[in-house]
Amino acid sequence: MATERIGSRLTAHGSRVTKNQGSNDPGNGAEGASAHRSPLTAHGPDAQATGVPPLRMVAWELTRNCNLSCMHCRASASCGPFEGELTTAECKNVIDSIASFASPTIILTGGEPLLREDIFEIIDYGHEKGLRLVIAVNGTLVDEPVAQRLRDSGIMRVSMSLDGKGATSHDTFRGVPGSFASVMNASNIFNKVGLPFQINTTVTRLNVDDLGEIYELVKSLGAVAWHVFLLVPVGRGEGLKGEELNAGMYEDVLQWLYSVETKNELEMKVTCAPHYYRIVKEKGDTPKSAGCLAGKSFLFISHRGIAQPCGYLEMASGDVRKEGVQKVWESSPVFNAIRDLRGYKGKCGACKYLRICGGCRARALELKGDVLQEEPYCSYLP
Ligand code: SF4
Ligand code: SF4
Repeated sequence: MATERIGSRLTAHGSRVTKNQGSNDPGNGAEGASAHRSPLTAHGPDAQATGVPPLRMVAWELTRNCNLSCMHCRASASCGPFEGELTTAECKNVIDSIASFASPTIILTGGEPLLREDIFEIIDYGHEKGLRLVIAVNGTLVDEPVAQRLRDSGIMRVSMSLDGKGATSHDTFRGVPGSFASVMNASNIFNKVGLPFQINTTVTRLNVDDLGEIYELVKSLGAVAWHVFLLVPVGRGEGLKGEELNAGMYEDVLQWLYSVETKNELEMKVTCAPHYYRIVKEKGDTPKSAGCLAGKSFLFISHRGIAQPCGYLEMASGDVRKEGVQKVWESSPVFNAIRDLRGYKGKCGACKYLRICGGCRARALELKGDVLQEEPYCSYLP
């Protein structure tokens, strides 16, 4: 298993620095990175050469404040305050900026987005501008009035995480006793008010043996979907290095997930495991999604307005507060490099499934030190 610590990483501008050099502070996300200062020239053609794909999904970290302390948290979120958070007016500018050139689904996330006092003002404004909004919550702040308000505001779906089959395992993962009970309670409330919800589960060695029971639990809760994530060891998830599955174990889990998904009992999505779509293809099936969407159809915006290809891929790709979303999406050197499959290296670069898979760019960066390197947790040999 490739769990060695990487002492250096490829910055977005193409040079290797140690974690202690330069302005890049991997511990607090990507805000310190300087990707937008100079182009990634080694493999990154300009937008004209690659074409600019439509922006279909935005994960927007409205806040880093959170009342939980999950072991795998990408944002290392905790009780704030976190400086530099976008103000209400700046959030509305971001919405205007997105709506001016695209109509993606926006995932309002955090931290815990319900901790923002202006959350419903932001939701209402987003809907006024015609955007589709969903929200990721941890369940602890959900009561009937909040759920009704979310439903009445037009939120299409809520997601919550469930990483264990019971209170002991889930609460250990989440860092707060009672968080499993909160998810159970919130599920009942969402069912009662008629707001669709999905459950997200992050797979590690801590819960891999319980996935079957978690699946049964998700069905019994009345969730409309189960999204299964493979751990990306960034943020507080770095502390889970050693709890990740190795490539062979991932292969087994992905094969099992395929057998479950094809039962068609529940909407499922295997997320941040792009090689799942290689497996789907190998089975003679048609993948219903592309693999890694980061920077290709997916954009992450941090609580400070810093764009990244996805929340786990800590490469600052522009400041939407200063540049607007369209300019960042269309001309970020980081995005252009990721979109250009000709620059991919290692076995991903040689793989016939590259277009439908892409490998996880965040794991490549974290574990191989180069965003264009091969996915470390794929066992396929091209
Ligand atoms: S880079 Fe990895 S974590 Fe990010 S969207 Fe792609 S597969 Fe998911
Ligand atoms: S080698 Fe890379 S591109 Fe090919 S299936 Fe594995 S992760 Fe995907």
